[in-house]
Amino acid sequence: MAAVRPARVFIVEDEPKIVALLADYLRHEGHAVESFGDGAVALAAARQNPPDLVLLDVMLPGLNGIEVCREIRRFSEVPVLMLTARVDEVDRLLGLDTGADDYVCKPFSPREVTARVRALLRRSRASAGSDGRPWVVDEAGLKIVWKQSVLPLTPVEFRIFARLLAHPGRVYSRAQLLDAVHADLRDVSDRAIDSHVKNLRRKLLAADPAADPIHSVYGVGYRFDPPPEPSGPSEPY
Ligand code: CA
Repeated sequence: MAAVRPARVFIVEDEPKIVALLADYLRHEGHAVESFGDGAVALAAARQNPPDLVLLDVMLPGLNGIEVCREIRRFSEVPVLMLTARVDEVDRLLGLDTGADDYVCKPFSPREVTARVRALLRRSRASAGSDGRPWVVDEAGLKIVWKQSVLPLTPVEFRIFARLLAHPGRVYSRAQLLDAVHADLRDVSDRAIDSHVKNLRRKLLAADPAADPIHSVYGVGYRFDPPPEPSGPSEPY
């Protein structure tokens, strides 16, 4: 069986025995594990430095798992695997309202959990980068996901960035970018493009401090340069 590339996994659970058991198995698979006994703390940590996957118990003190998952979905599409003791809760967990990707019912076998983790990591990595690209453009939803973070873009910023992403390395003039934002937005001037691009770059940096892929080309406009592919073995995962 092909190994899955190691990931950063959050375990959010207030029962130390379960945390220890899961952490043990996940570390054995090569993953870096961080555990949290409190939903709000885990949420803050995920915002600061998004993990690759979240294992999230429903029953938590303070903010419960459903609330944590809902909050995570506001800024990230990281895979979330819920742990629940109640089978009757499952529909709700996987519903649009919560946004979890999968669930495991307690009591569970740790092997079952690691198998689900493996499957979710494969799936999310495949969708985020089937072509090696760290971004996904959702035209219908006016959403751009950058390394699993949903960028909080305005519709104008979305259109500008989607246009730049369509042809990495190509230089677009301000007039071409204006076309991209449609004629219905008549208040957008040449100069306004500059300020939209500035905001776009700021949001990208906030989502991914290593990324500043939009460059201004003097006297012409803007260009998107894709980030270098991660180094290391390029085996499919
Ligand atoms: Ca619990």
